[in-house]
Amino acid sequence: MSLADHLAARIRTEGPLSLADYMGDALLHPVHGYYTTRDPLGAAGDFTTAPEISQMFGEMLGLCLAQSWLDQGAPGAFTLAELGPGRGTLMADVMRATAAVPGFHQAARIVLVEASPTLRKAQAATLAPHAPHWIDHAGALPDAPLWLVANEFFDALPIRQFVRDGAGWRERRIGLEGEALAWGLGPTGPQPALAGRLADTGDGDLVEICPALPAIAEEIGQRIESHGGAALIIDYGDWRSRGDTLQALRAHAPVDVLDTPGTADLTAHVDFEALARATPSAVTAMTPQGVFLERLGITARAQALARGLRDAALDSHIAAHRRLTHPQEMGNLFKVLGFHPARAIPPAGFQT
Ligand code: SAH
Repeated sequence: MSLADHLAARIRTEGPLSLADYMGDALLHPVHGYYTTRDPLGAAGDFTTAPEISQMFGEMLGLCLAQSWLDQGAPGAFTLAELGPGRGTLMADVMRATAAVPGFHQAARIVLVEASPTLRKAQAATLAPHAPHWIDHAGALPDAPLWLVANEFFDALPIRQFVRDGAGWRERRIGLEGEALAWGLGPTGPQPALAGRLADTGDGDLVEICPALPAIAEEIGQRIESHGGAALIIDYGDWRSRGDTLQALRAHAPVDVLDTPGTADLTAHVDFEALARATPSAVTAMTPQGVFLERLGITARAQALARGLRDAALDSHIAAHRRLTHPQEMGNLFKVLGFHPARAIPPAGFQT
């Protein structure tokens, strides 16, 4: 039975599915889910990410986390966590860049939040020297000081989409037309989660919510506020959701969201306002990735690395620096938000 057959059977018994239900199965179904069954990253996969483009990304984030740890008095035992670590590349770069920070590695207990058994294996191979621990969700993070990074994690969480209809909302749903999956709209009704959005939307506007996001931001922020720490959340998105940002990617090209579920990556832009609202910690200004990396010194690091490179390797290094930072590449589309305790200074790289 394919995932499309499974979803069709579900729709026949339960009725049309919310987009979040569809995405949940498409991404993480235990047998057919996209992340469950494959390593989607890199040139041979479906998409690539900043840590896979250049080691400089993880190095800058690692130094930022270690500086924040020093700024908060270098607590002797803390959690160094990552949400959705992919192949483990980012954490490996964080560890290499921080190896010379006295006491940082000794005090860090590495905890990875990862749902995919396939990617857990890849992370175990990459991070074996650092003896990481895995947990299933942010609620299982230790009650301890927490320094955390999440790159392209929140964009992979299932979303719901609503279309404004007068003073109410209609949910976009996935049903059946004959045997084929097809989009439809649910009945008009009030949506308590969208009460605040009647003021800034008009008839026919589409808004998205990510039901799992607030609880995750709350779990992280609560530990940071009570025990100390910081979180760096990097993703594509903006302040407050507006419009349809759902996309499906296969082999680096956009495909139809309903085409062969479980075989394409599904993502949506992250609503950074929702993250900031849900955390009990203080938050930094939302900052474009390019600006953030420049403030952390990526250009000096790029120049130092360039001295050891020639020809094609040098060209691709220069292209990677540009890709991570240039406003027309990832520099502006991706944003960074920091969480920190209200009593502590914000992590480096954000304007204070
Ligand atoms: N951060 C990595 C990978 C991004 S892809 C990088 O930048 O390269 C998204 C990652 O989040 C994958 O590791 C995926 O398996 C994981 N993931 C997606 N949904 C998840 C969930 N609900 N819980 C835990 N991990 C999840």
